[in-house]
Amino acid sequence: MTTRYRVEYALKTHRRDQLIEWIKGLLAVPFVLYSQPQGVFEGQGIHSSPQTRDEAHRRYSEILRDVEIMIDDHIANQNNADNPFPSKLKLLVPSIGPFFTRLPLEAAFKFQDRKRYISSRRFVSPSFNDVRLILNSAQIMAVTTYGTLQLATFDGDVTLYDDGQSLEPTSPVIPRLLDLLRKNVKIGIVTAAGYTTADRYYARLHGLLDAMANSADLTPAQKQSLVVMGGEANYLFEFCPASPHLLAPVPIARWLTPEMAGWDERDIDQLLDVAEAALRDCIKSLNLPATVMRKDRAVGIIPLTPDLRIPRESLEETVLVVQKILELSSAGRSRRVPFCAFNGGRDVFVDIGDKSWGVTVCQRWFSSSGGGAAAADGHDGVTIRGENTLHVGDQFLSAGANDFRARSVGTTAWIASPAETVELLDELAELMGKKMS
Ligand code: IMP
Ligand code: MG
Repeated sequence: MTTRYRVEYALKTHRRDQLIEWIKGLLAVPFVLYSQPQGVFEGQGIHSSPQTRDEAHRRYSEILRDVEIMIDDHIANQNNADNPFPSKLKLLVPSIGPFFTRLPLEAAFKFQDRKRYISSRRFVSPSFNDVRLILNSAQIMAVTTYGTLQLATFDGDVTLYDDGQSLEPTSPVIPRLLDLLRKNVKIGIVTAAGYTTADRYYARLHGLLDAMANSADLTPAQKQSLVVMGGEANYLFEFCPASPHLLAPVPIARWLTPEMAGWDERDIDQLLDVAEAALRDCIKSLNLPATVMRKDRAVGIIPLTPDLRIPRESLEETVLVVQKILELSSAGRSRRVPFCAFNGGRDVFVDIGDKSWGVTVCQRWFSSSGGGAAAADGHDGVTIRGENTLHVGDQFLSAGANDFRARSVGTTAWIASPAETVELLDELAELMGKKMS
């Protein structure tokens, strides 16, 4: 998991965790001032006295409410085109991005404190993971309370199934995804895994696809509400009960956005050539036990044999080297074709496009005027909006962080394992249930 230990970088521009680190820093102060570690020696056992816990809880809540207000101010600022000045939050956390919804951080903290006993701890201060989960809860509350969730997109590896594995029929994620479909939420599986044929995606997703095919209570329209967007933004498949692998490829003309239609094949090939050469250099200079894999829309390095593990530092170094070389190449400088170089945990890939494009395609595909054809005509007014979209993924911190890219087109939740995805979906179901009742 990426959050357990860090790699230090020469280039800091890609650090995506500044908001979390900043909030963690704010919470460290009351922890130091109010936690009473000596209490454990004073006959109070391992549990905090209620007084200490209540005081810590009150202070943490106040701080999160203050941050919540600061985010409100930032949102007012970002939505005011006439104001050239940065918000206070932007000055304090320069890497801060756009917000699609406000974030009820105080309520989210109270929810997570009930689950994780953050205020009861005397020796361990509020951690990076605590804050990450508070932000997730706040985002889930926001998309269900201030608006309606229309589209949920999910990364594959580490989010729906363990890295390199597949969605088996017994996965607890499956009934929860079916539940979302039943509630008329559209689902996009937006994965970097790039395959040109349905059988390969069926191999990764068969548990879910079979469950959908066999489900008696999902309506045909609800079954039509699942797409797979592979290779970040390169291959679209829709659920199709009549197809042998339950997925049918959607012809590119039906889903490509006008911007994407402008990506020239020659630029794409040139970019991948530069990336491939850079990857080969890294294999040599870092002596990586890896081989190059070239595809029509991606190039990557994978371990020579499945049991080999390339050190994390080498993977990160490779991503940063390749990214820099690409940015400075003539193909990269022209910025005609976007790309995404990222550390996949065991491998490194450079893909054409990124998940912001993949999620955008899903938003257009499920537009209210009836899906793909309408979207291809460019009916932007009916596209699902960022505040009605939630992307769930694990890659927000490591080099390249491909799920982080989705942050520019919709709300996001950062999970660290499929088990956390299950918890998040339970939280979501409870809030959606409350809203409907
Ligand atoms: P994700 O977590 O679902 O986005 O999947 C990322 C993983 O898919 C990578 O780490 C690779 O192991 C695998 N993969 C397979 N083919 C491709 C490809 O064409 N581009 C990027 N990743 C790929
Ligand atoms: Mg992943």
